[in-house]
Amino acid sequence: MKCSVCSNEIIEKYCSNCGQYFKDSRVTSITILWGLFDSFFSLEKSIFMNIKIALSEPKTIVSNYWKGFRKYYFTPFQFFTIASLSLLINYYLFNNFLGLSLSVNNISSHFAILVLNIILLTLYSSLIYLKFKKNIFEHLILNIYNVSLWTILFVPISMTSSLVLDNTDIARFFFIPFHLLILIWNSKVFKLRKLKRFLFVIINLSLFYGTLLFLIFYSNL
Ligand SMILES: [Zn+2]
Repeated sequence: MKCSVCSNEIIEKYCSNCGQYFKDSRVTSITILWGLFDSFFSLEKSIFMNIKIALSEPKTIVSNYWKGFRKYYFTPFQFFTIASLSLLINYYLFNNFLGLSLSVNNISSHFAILVLNIILLTLYSSLIYLKFKKNIFEHLILNIYNVSLWTILFVPISMTSSLVLDNTDIARFFFIPFHLLILIWNSKVFKLRKLKRFLFVIINLSLFYGTLLFLIFYSNL
C-alpha cells in the first residue's frame, strides 16, 4: 500500500515519511464511535498535559516557542483559545469572572478582559526585563501563555466563589493572587537570583496595580 499523502510505501500501519496512519478496513459504526471517543479523550489529555507543563515548567514551553519549535507543545494561541472558551462558559453560567461583571452584554466583552490584561502586562514585562533583550512580540508571547494559563485555572475558582459567596465583590480580591501568579510565572522564564526575582515581581505588581488604580480613579472623575 502506498501513502495517499506522499506516495511512500507503508510498512505496518504508519507511513515512515509523514506519519499518516493506515487501517485497511471500511467505515463502520465502530469506526465512528471510536473516532468520537478517541478525539474527545486525546484532546482532553493534550490540554491537561500542556497545562501541566505550562504550570511546572513555564520556561520550557515559552522558550521553546521563542526558539522557533512548533507542534509539540500548544502554541500561545491555543492556550488563548482555551482560555477564552473557559471565560465564555464562565460568563454564560455566572455573568462574572472573579466578581467582575461586564456591563456590555456581548461575546466580545469577555474577550476584552483577556486582551487588556495581556497588553498591559506585556508593556510592563518588556520594561522590567529590558536587560534580557527580548522584543515586544516575544514579551507578548510570554504574556499570552501566562495570562491564558492562569485564566483557565481561575475559572473554576471564580465559578466556585459565585456558587458559595452571596456577595461577588469579595471575589474581586482573587485578582491579587491571579495577577501575582502571572507575574511570578513571567519571572520564571528569566534567569534571576531569588532576591532579584522577588524584587522584580513586587515592582511589576506595584506598577501594574498603580496603573489600574489610576485608570479606575481617572475614569470615575
Ligand atoms: Zn506519507
